Amino acid sequence: MAKIKILPPNVANQIAAGEVIERPASVVKELIENSLDAGADRIEIAVEGGGRDLIQIKDNGVGMDREDIELAVEPHATSKIATEKDLSSIQTLGFRGEALASIASVSNFTLISRPKHAQQGWELNISFGHKKSIKPKGCPSGTLVKVEDLFGQIPARRKFLKSAQTELGHISQTVRIYAAANPTIHFELTSKKRTLFRSKQGLSGSLALWPLVGEKIASRLLKFEGSGPWFSIKGYISGPEDGRSTSKGFYFFVNNRIVREKMLWKALSEACKGSFVKGTYPLGAVFIQVEPEYVDVNCHPSKQEVRFRDGSAIFQALYNGIKRALESRHDPLSVGEKSIHHLKFNNKNKISQLSEPPPIEINNDLEQDQPLREDYPIQPSIPLEVNDSIQTTENFSTKSDSFEPFESSSPFRLIGHLENTYILFQGPEGLIMVDQHAAHEAILFKNIMDSLESNKTIVSQTLAFPIIISKSHDEVSQLDKSKHILKKLGLKLESFGATEIAVHEVPEIVARQPDKTKIISELIDKALEINSSDPKSLLWDLVAKIACRCAIKADDELHSAEMKQLIDDLIEQGITNCPHGRPVVIAISLEEIQKRFKRI
Ligand code: ADP
Ligand code: MG
Repeated sequence: MAKIKILPPNVANQIAAGEVIERPASVVKELIENSLDAGADRIEIAVEGGGRDLIQIKDNGVGMDREDIELAVEPHATSKIATEKDLSSIQTLGFRGEALASIASVSNFTLISRPKHAQQGWELNISFGHKKSIKPKGCPSGTLVKVEDLFGQIPARRKFLKSAQTELGHISQTVRIYAAANPTIHFELTSKKRTLFRSKQGLSGSLALWPLVGEKIASRLLKFEGSGPWFSIKGYISGPEDGRSTSKGFYFFVNNRIVREKMLWKALSEACKGSFVKGTYPLGAVFIQVEPEYVDVNCHPSKQEVRFRDGSAIFQALYNGIKRALESRHDPLSVGEKSIHHLKFNNKNKISQLSEPPPIEINNDLEQDQPLREDYPIQPSIPLEVNDSIQTTENFSTKSDSFEPFESSSPFRLIGHLENTYILFQGPEGLIMVDQHAAHEAILFKNIMDSLESNKTIVSQTLAFPIIISKSHDEVSQLDKSKHILKKLGLKLESFGATEIAVHEVPEIVARQPDKTKIISELIDKALEINSSDPKSLLWDLVAKIACRCAIKADDELHSAEMKQLIDDLIEQGITNCPHGRPVVIAISLEEIQKRFKRI
């Protein structure tokens, strides 16, 4: 090997730049952060060629004098921290003093700046790490940074850049992220003389997130909050109806810094379990403000990873906040902007009347109040015109007793059973369809979870003959770790030799199923599949499995009394989604039906 030499500073800076400056969007990020740290409230960004040809950022922040301009581009030169102690209480977005030196080492770099009260500004030029010149410059107060020919002399880096369009997309996304996190600051992004983004003033709350989720969705995000002695959390999350197939639409900010942090993702995904269908993700953002001493932002070059001193407190508060927001939402099923809640509560016949004693005088007005039946009797042979999901009425069965209201005072009336799968009933404002399997599954799930949460034991049944299940040696010993969780659910088992498991007691609800051996075997597989160090998640999955396997199935024939019972339970418990997040109920308002028949 050759002799060791210290690298010349411009080469060393180029190598360091590789960590900070991955692509044009990273330049934009670093320069926006500098402008924000400089107290600017106006930041204008112009790019050409997807940022390869030009990135220019102009701000109206505090500006720099000649001495600071020259220092700013030196490696490890910063005005934001001075001592090691300052590292533990960082309040600014930058603190490493690396960005300008790195950017100047991989581009044709120009820095023009003037502090407010200075008579004149200065312009500094650097070409790929070689200091060229500094000269006086007439300019407005604030700072302008111009980055041209990015990676121009570093072909290896250029090769990794994507098309100008793709890079522009990343830049635009970066600007949008900072605009959403700083709604009082004016951001503008232009390219090829076109404005690609411009902040809107005076927006607050969820509306401020429009750059990330669009205006429509921003207006219907659900708010959540949480706090602890050293942190506060404020966030906005979409309901499952606005869910996406990618997790990229949810953003985490810690002290206004965008971060990627596994623990925060975990809190989000745990809290979304049961509200979002597997494989779909919410849109939204959360802003966590933490006392600077309680968070370490200096653990990754991109400054996008953070470490909390007590991560579990943040996890819990975030989880609780999101969970509560998702559970309390009032419009979970948007069918023509209506929901079962809406159908329930927006009518004078409130659902609570279902459980109240019937009025002394039985009022038959209800019969006449049903124009749907009176005016438009169902004609089984006439195909319905528009609804995608119901093409014809051929499979529409009604039972002789189906048309009775649940109770004489109730606005809910059972009207049919479609394909032995969907229960149809009439609510105060229209047609309500219930997926019988999803509904029953959700009810069972909620009952078991409620029992577990209130520390009630799950009723179990001892088997006359234990069920023996063969497993590998490793699996038998692995299962040992989840035994206590399975026991909580009423499933008592023990190893039976090295490669078999004997199941002695099973939850009563499972014992009643004709295919109980199969269900138990599935539960054991689930317990093996999931990391038992996460008992909460394992318990959740096991309960979901039990609920799914023990619920009535699609295609099961039901009596009207059973259907009514199911609907009663559903309404009473306010259930709208199954544990996997699929809707249980779909409502179509009378208005919507009339519109489709072109009556209104
Ligand atoms: P850091 O932001 O980590 O301190 P940078 O290399 O990004 O490092 O910037 C170096 C220094 O230059 C900053 O600490 C700041 O004092 C100054 N600076 C950079 N950009 C601006 C700006 N837009 N306005 C005022 N000062 C700036
Ligand atoms: Mg910086």
